[in-house]
Amino acid sequence: MHIAIAGAGLLGRLLAFELVRAGHRIEAFDPAADAATRTAAGWTAAGMLSPVAELECANEDVFALGLRSLELWPQIVAALGEQGTQVELNQRGSLLLAHRGDEGAAQRVVDLLVRKAPHDYAPQALDAAALCEMEPSVQGPSHAWLLPHEGQIHTVQAMVALAAAGTARGVAWHWGETVTALSPGCLHTARSEHHFDHVFDVRGTGARPDLLVRGVRGEILWLHAPGVVLHRPVRLLHPRHRVYLVPRQDDIIVVGASEIESEDRSPISLRSTVELLAAAHSVMPELAEARLVHTETNLRPALPDNLPRIEQAQGLTRVNGLFRHGWLIAPALMEQALLSLNGVQTA
Ligand SMILES: Cc1cc2nc3c(=O)[nH]c(=O)nc-3n(C[C@H](O)[C@H](O)[C@H](O)COP(=O)(O)OP(=O)(O)OC[C@H]3O[C@@H](n4cnc5c(N)ncnc54)[C@H](O)[C@@H]3O)c2cc1C
Repeated sequence: MHIAIAGAGLLGRLLAFELVRAGHRIEAFDPAADAATRTAAGWTAAGMLSPVAELECANEDVFALGLRSLELWPQIVAALGEQGTQVELNQRGSLLLAHRGDEGAAQRVVDLLVRKAPHDYAPQALDAAALCEMEPSVQGPSHAWLLPHEGQIHTVQAMVALAAAGTARGVAWHWGETVTALSPGCLHTARSEHHFDHVFDVRGTGARPDLLVRGVRGEILWLHAPGVVLHRPVRLLHPRHRVYLVPRQDDIIVVGASEIESEDRSPISLRSTVELLAAAHSVMPELAEARLVHTETNLRPALPDNLPRIEQAQGLTRVNGLFRHGWLIAPALMEQALLSLNGVQTA
């Protein structure tokens, strides 16, 4: 089939790679200047793959999509590896942490997760010795719980790898081309009208007015912290602010993220910087000498119920609303979108 993809962010790149591997002819359109221009939310994400922790604000469907995606990511990363591109993917679990004095608020979150997650996935309380053995540099918090099934992916590497692998397989990327309108089998850009067997609309916040999608501002910081060891993502359960730390290759620790009901894409605020970094330092005092090397702001695409949605019609599929867990659920959501698409064979 000759298939168009409107939007080359996280979903667009995944779809393009999957569909081109299955033998389809793919054209993808995105206003970004080139494959490396970081406009999509997919670039900014910390890449936590946290089906249990996300249950704090998500439902059992997101949880199930997350578990399925945790099975699919290793296959996708292996396929990217065959194309010669490496993507850091770890499944060493994650930790929930709380400071002395914040036990009440933290326990309420843990109780909620225990209620919502199947028994085998419930948070496991760790004592001080177990925490010290797992993460010696985590020294501030007095309470810890392990979520053993969680993972993380290096989002920047994955965005680069998916585009490169798509190109190698023959995806035609139309960078710098904004889709101005789309309908079943048809897509308009400022320059012309294009016809296809099928169109995927994965424009994230750019899908308005066709979808009631909004952007939710998120700010993150990258610290360069040579010698500070962190093996897995950790989240601080704090009564006022949530902060997580995600380790990446090359001594980088990603600290995130604010969640603000605003579509302001301007640089990170002083308040977010102070709150996120103070919380990060309270978790890992060794970060005092880390260097702040990068900050980034982006918009999470969210529908009114904050849940993901697939809309299917003959000749047109829309996928949107990945909100704050796009990397967690994208492979499984894509699998569902392709399964219910009559006649489309996937790799
Ligand atoms: C700070 C932050 C932290 C996050 N952390 C995590 C995390 O740890 N774990 C996790 O699972 N998720 C996380 N996310 C969420 C995740 O990044 C998103 O859910 C995901 O990127 C959404 O994917 P998408 O493809 O729908 O949208 P995007 O990745 O935003 O891609 C949309 C694409 O559509 C293009 N587009 C827009 N308008 C048009 C148009 N008119 N024509 C053509 N193309 C168009 C855009 O240029 C963009 O490339 C985070 C997000 C943020 C902002």
